[in-house]
Amino acid sequence: MTDQIPAGPLTTEAGAPVADNQHSQVAGVGGPVLIQDQHLIEKLAHFNRERVPERVVHARGAGAYGTFTVTADVTPYTRAAFLSEIGKETEVFLRFSTVAGNLGAADAVRDPRGFALKFYTEEGNYDLVGNNTPIFFIKDAIKFPDFIHTQKRDPYTGSQEPDNVWDFWGLSPESTHQVTWLFGDRGIPASYRHMNGYGSHTFQWTNAAGEAFWVKYHFKTDQGIRNLTAEEAAVLAGQDPDSHQRDLRVSIENGDFPSWTVQAQIMPVADAPTYRFNPFDLTKVWPHADYPPIEIGRLELNRNPRNVFAEVEQSIFSPHHFVPGIGPSPDNMLQGRLFAYGDAHRYRVGINADQLPVNRPHATEARTHGRDGHAYDGRHGGAKNYEPNSFGGPAQTDQPLWAATTVSGVTGDHPAPSHAEDDDYGQAGTLYRLMSEDEKERLIANLAGSIAQVSRDDIAERAIENFRRADEDYGKRLHAAVQALRG
Ligand code: NDP
Repeated sequence: MTDQIPAGPLTTEAGAPVADNQHSQVAGVGGPVLIQDQHLIEKLAHFNRERVPERVVHARGAGAYGTFTVTADVTPYTRAAFLSEIGKETEVFLRFSTVAGNLGAADAVRDPRGFALKFYTEEGNYDLVGNNTPIFFIKDAIKFPDFIHTQKRDPYTGSQEPDNVWDFWGLSPESTHQVTWLFGDRGIPASYRHMNGYGSHTFQWTNAAGEAFWVKYHFKTDQGIRNLTAEEAAVLAGQDPDSHQRDLRVSIENGDFPSWTVQAQIMPVADAPTYRFNPFDLTKVWPHADYPPIEIGRLELNRNPRNVFAEVEQSIFSPHHFVPGIGPSPDNMLQGRLFAYGDAHRYRVGINADQLPVNRPHATEARTHGRDGHAYDGRHGGAKNYEPNSFGGPAQTDQPLWAATTVSGVTGDHPAPSHAEDDDYGQAGTLYRLMSEDEKERLIANLAGSIAQVSRDDIAERAIENFRRADEDYGKRLHAAVQALRG
């Protein structure tokens, strides 16, 4: 589907007709170019400014619009209006991405995938900025810049360096669970359609009576999980760097709309202090046996963006975008992201990014006294820009979006509270043991191939030790595989 600018004279940015779009104005035949050629100057200047800074993480992405439909009564748990009725539909925009690669990087790589979902609800936009994994490498945002530095380009070599990657992971044992996931079969999805999405963090739901619950979201692909082996991915990344983006666009163009069954795990708040795992630790799941996922909805993607830059590159998501009945938990990664995402977009797209068509509310309107700034479109006309005022206009509701949480103690750089079964290795071992023997073999080969590239024995050994602590067999086999490759 391509759009067309209406026929008629080509114009400058200011709308004046352009006489010649093939030749610059010159001082006589064969002479130098004249600065009076407004069209040339404007064209070159605009071209130089076609890019906005790419995201530091999740730079490479693809997106689509769709519909979320409620399939279960969740009003006992949340008063969010878009979840209020079975059958209720809400427009969404979903941006998928890889994490570490730059804007032009290949899609078919071993990397977590972003699963950033914007619900255009009648109470404002609700952003659920998830991943295709229910867990993450670290549990406190204060480590995030260090972690990402190890995943991106080394300041000296300009390339991703296995030394940096494994040094950080070895020294951050809480990453063992996510690294096991990443080097397993699901570490390279075959497409964005063939993977699950997860809200990953724990969030708060509050019902109409003010009762609060802790919740985790799961989006189970209706297309089935499909992955690429390391060998298949290496070929595809070379042949078709845009493989995932193309697959998503073409399937929607063909009317083959991808969908996900949406589930929630719900924990009464009273359970949290004594639960066997810290329920706010992003490196851990809530085992299904403890809190069985219940189906709550269906997500379908059914409309491609018309302009990738405007709608995908300039789309902004913030975990801070909550609606009444949904709020944050005291997950230290989430708390850091509440600041960092909005801040990234204010830098990247500007203070008025949330007025762009893809970002602004679609089912309600923003009624704010925020004004002006770069690229302000003047939408408020001459309306008063302060509150309270004596001239009418929007006013505060006195209704908090989410329930208050109880805190105690003194401020300080405290580690998270430790629960009975909290450690950095247990759930990584559980994940290893649920893999088939074939998958274990591929996992060991993938990990060994990467660790074997590390230049220092102590860094490699420390990394392997984390897997040994997760499962004796896991560590033993990995050690042998690395030895075999290193000779
Ligand atoms: P369950 O047996 O109830 O659930 C296991 C989950 O593991 C299923 O959701 C399954 O997804 C998923 N899974 C299967 N193979 C892989 C793989 N190769 N890589 C990643 N995930 C896989 O057990 P628990 O709830 O006790 O969880 C056990 C382990 O499973 C956890 O330590 C965690 O690593 C992983 N897991 C747990 C999830 C959770 O929320 N509890 C969610 C996803 C993974 P599917 O149903 O799609 O096949």
